[in-house]
Amino acid sequence: QGKDCVKVAVRVRPFNKRERDAGSRCIISMASSSITIQDPRNAQTRRSFCFDYAYWSHSGFTRDPGGLYLSEEAGGRYADQASVFQDLGEGILHNALQGYNATLLAYGQTGSGKSYSMVGYGPNKGLVPTLCDRLFQAVKGKQDSRQCQVFFSMLEIYNEQVVDLLSRGSRALGGLRVREEQQRGFYVEGLRTVPCDSAQQVEQLMEQGTRTRTTAATHMNANSSRSHMLIILQLKQILSKESITKQSNINLVDLAGSERQRASGSEADRLKEGTAINLSLTTLGNVISALADVAVGKKAVHIPYRVSVLTKLLQSALGGNSRTVMIATLSPADICYEESLSTLRYAERAKRIQNRAVVNESPTE
Ligand code: ADP
Ligand code: MG
Repeated sequence: QGKDCVKVAVRVRPFNKRERDAGSRCIISMASSSITIQDPRNAQTRRSFCFDYAYWSHSGFTRDPGGLYLSEEAGGRYADQASVFQDLGEGILHNALQGYNATLLAYGQTGSGKSYSMVGYGPNKGLVPTLCDRLFQAVKGKQDSRQCQVFFSMLEIYNEQVVDLLSRGSRALGGLRVREEQQRGFYVEGLRTVPCDSAQQVEQLMEQGTRTRTTAATHMNANSSRSHMLIILQLKQILSKESITKQSNINLVDLAGSERQRASGSEADRLKEGTAINLSLTTLGNVISALADVAVGKKAVHIPYRVSVLTKLLQSALGGNSRTVMIATLSPADICYEESLSTLRYAERAKRIQNRAVVNESPTE
């Protein structure tokens, strides 16, 4: 069984109002799958990175998506939701139908387009709803004697607490517990898992979950950009002719904003960095770095999966039994240079991770 590297895509969005009002300059350019970022204070300093995909969604937008602006040089070059789905979503769908686990992660600073790419807004449906549409189409279109079941769960990790976004009481109870079993690995105990038979049903659940997340954040006077949102789709296929059951888990993760991930200098900040709010994102970075070292042959002593809730739940997605895709989202603006550069470096490390995905099948009981 071969190894597959984590696939990494980058996407740059249009200017937002704040950037436009500040007279921002675009410091990102792309050519096929490579991306170049320019230091706004020093025209000679450019860094280029090569990824599996690079999406130019900065200029050429034909509709005004809620307060964003067309770039002057609009020329129909805009990479829309459909083209992103074609490259990233189709593969995940195909893998899942074959019985592979799949994971999709969105990484980037707050406001850079993670939720736009993952979930989407209004008619601009993101990867998750489109994936669900296509999954149910595929499941219903199968002419063979296969019986399919889809299960949906949605949770949030905030402050190292797991909150079930589909059930009311879970936050009040102080969150759900993460447990470990030999076969299954880490899982969330008591997480609501809803059997679904249409994309509309999934969309309703996603809306419900998103509402729970926003209301809860308001109550706690917190910001939902500090929490990670994880959707788990489980696909179970019973192939009666072959007497085989295939089971695949699809993890869809809208990560917390990456801007809090770096220690910003002062001792106080570094101390805060160790607190629970950042623990999952910091640990994810450490796990990715350690795995990237393993891939280039360095002897990594220890991959710190167990340090945080997020990395426990994503263990198989990172260096394990999963086909994994990361989309790193960027602001185009000069004022976001530091954050964007840090996102690109993070994404570059993620690219080196090697997984070993296998089809999950067993004789039907
Ligand atoms: P994040 O989830 O990373 O905090 P959002 O996805 O909410 O950021 O995006 C911030 C704003 O930018 C939203 O208004 C969104 O509609 C817009 N936006 C993000 N990415 C794109 C894109 N590729 N094309 C058009 N608008 C975008
Ligand atoms: Mg968001």
